[in-house]
Amino acid sequence: MNTTQTAPLAINRLNIHQVTLNQCNFRESIECLSRHGIRETAVWLPRLEETGVAEAGRILRDNGIVATSVCAGGLLTSAGNAEGSIVLDRNRRWLEQAAEIGATSMVTITGGLPEGVRDLDSMRAQALERLAALIPDARSAGVRLALEPLHPIVCGFRSVISTLGEALDALGQLESDDVMGIAFDSYALWWEVSLEEKIRRTAPHLLCVHVSDWLQDTSDVRLDRGMPGDGLIDNRRIRGWLEQAGFSGSIEVEIFSERNWWKRPPDEVVETIIDRSRQHL
Ligand code: ZN
Repeated sequence: MNTTQTAPLAINRLNIHQVTLNQCNFRESIECLSRHGIRETAVWLPRLEETGVAEAGRILRDNGIVATSVCAGGLLTSAGNAEGSIVLDRNRRWLEQAAEIGATSMVTITGGLPEGVRDLDSMRAQALERLAALIPDARSAGVRLALEPLHPIVCGFRSVISTLGEALDALGQLESDDVMGIAFDSYALWWEVSLEEKIRRTAPHLLCVHVSDWLQDTSDVRLDRGMPGDGLIDNRRIRGWLEQAGFSGSIEVEIFSERNWWKRPPDEVVETIIDRSRQHL
């Protein structure tokens, strides 16, 4: 399917991830989204923790905004087993917080290699063990774990799972499809060979879809994400593949942009996203 065959994204399917307005506190970002008619967000966990779940829940309700997920949980890997219980307890707390604000999934990234560790295979195994340990907690909280593979360039510090194939393999091993799925991020996966075919295999497991753009002259692979339309990713085409595979959920614009969009007025950021969505999402 080519780009022109996919209709522009309807505004009621446009979700703007809270971290995109990182220049705002919790209340300011939610009020800004509401002002522009956005009805869904993915809640950024550090903002939720600093605000407190009761207050955050009130702000969301007062502004008619649904929190579809919290982001990013996991960060599971650690150098020693001793830290394992701390990591798991932190994730249990996040799952409870997600449930309290009505979010149905927690975007979960594995974490990278802890300082001094070079054994990538053991960290992948550890991440899977800790995911498995969280499954009963996720089930009892009623919050699904949305495993998010990240671009291999951040393997060292964000995610030891890099591809859709690896994420699907992890799901296969954990055999908990009722409570586990995948968060697909175009920024992380746009480069994958045979992406359309991989999307078809992933579709039954999709819980979240994140989009932004990869700037050709990026200055920071984590914190210099582009506004859709400013970079190399054909997000409209990728959405076409997702929809052909059966996905009909919301599209979450998630822009980490320390030097550009996080410095602009939030209204300008949201207006630009809505404008760009007509042509690029
Ligand atoms: Zn993402």
